Amino acid sequence: MRLLLLAPPGAGKGTQGERLARRFGVPHIAAGDLLRAEARGATPRGRQVAAYQERGDLVPDEIVFDVLTPAVVEAAARGGYILDGFPRTLPQATGAAEVGVRLGVTLDAAVYLSAPDTVLTRRLLARASQGGRTDDTADVIRHRLQLFARATGPLVAYYQKRGILVAVGADQPPESVTAEILARLSDVPLATASDVPPGREGPAAP
Ligand code: ADP
Repeated sequence: MRLLLLAPPGAGKGTQGERLARRFGVPHIAAGDLLRAEARGATPRGRQVAAYQERGDLVPDEIVFDVLTPAVVEAAARGGYILDGFPRTLPQATGAAEVGVRLGVTLDAAVYLSAPDTVLTRRLLARASQGGRTDDTADVIRHRLQLFARATGPLVAYYQKRGILVAVGADQPPESVTAEILARLSDVPLATASDVPPGREGPAAP
């Protein structure tokens, strides 16, 4: 299974990513987590990443590719992945598609989780009050939601055009979201590595 999760902050990408990864027995590759790990490193690049994340800005694509590509390539070789939070911009999506073509793998589905901004903000503030992340402040949350709409929103149409978009409402309990995703995925014809001879990938390579 090769799947990506497209969702605004607070929609539950992390939770669903973990559940889907367990369900399909593939790694859960969370862009935010990998970048936070990078930010903890006492390197110039780590400090740079930390500054972007604290402001709720998107980390530059070049750094994102450097950090994410090895994990994606390794997971692809072992049978699949659940990508959570990557790609998040059109250039990242087209760059990831090129990596997919090089690896001879296609994406099975792009799962879009949506919920009203009021619900998302409420969830993130609740997480903050439980000692959550430093980017879960009211101002930074607003900025992250705006950035999602502007930079990541266009990916919904991008994957819809490729016929692999699965849109699920995230304003329901986590178990119901998982159940709905799994039900919707059962309608999706899954591309397996053996279906896709190298060089003959469909248009939806990740
Ligand atoms: P959320 O979706 O709640 O913002 P994430 O953990 O997915 O949480 O991301 C946290 C931060 O990590 C983002 O605000 C951004 O700074 C950075 N980030 C994560 N994924 C990407 C990406 N694909 N491109 C650029 N920056 C990213």
